[in-house]
Amino acid sequence: MLKCKQCGRCCKYLVFQISSDFDKDLKQYFETRGFEVLPEKNILIQYNPCPHLKNNKCSIHDHKPELCRRFDSEHLEDVIVLKGCVFEEHAQPYQILEIPKSLEKD
Ligand code: SF4
Ligand code: SF4
Repeated sequence: MLKCKQCGRCCKYLVFQISSDFDKDLKQYFETRGFEVLPEKNILIQYNPCPHLKNNKCSIHDHKPELCRRFDSEHLEDVIVLKGCVFEEHAQPYQILEIPKSLEKD
């Protein structure tokens, strides 16, 4: 079984995938709110570390939200996986997201 390598990267980015294509207005709307827009995957992404991340570990592990709890190799159907994550090998190619260089912080 794969074990999370606790790099903490998935707790540092907010990633949303929208169902419609970005037109110019929608793109501008999100960009003015600090999101990077990746139109080819209908993705919005922002560097926005979770306040509960301490030294790359979850400080509320026993009480973390269900969404965080469900992130493992058996629940990957609907999620975006960051490139380099240990669970990448279980994801479909369209689910794998490379962080834009402009948002790489560490
Ligand atoms: S609650 Fe914990 S697991 Fe969830 S994003 Fe924050 S640090 Fe990560
Ligand atoms: S990106 Fe993957 S390996 Fe890194 S903390 Fe998140 S689940 Fe673990």
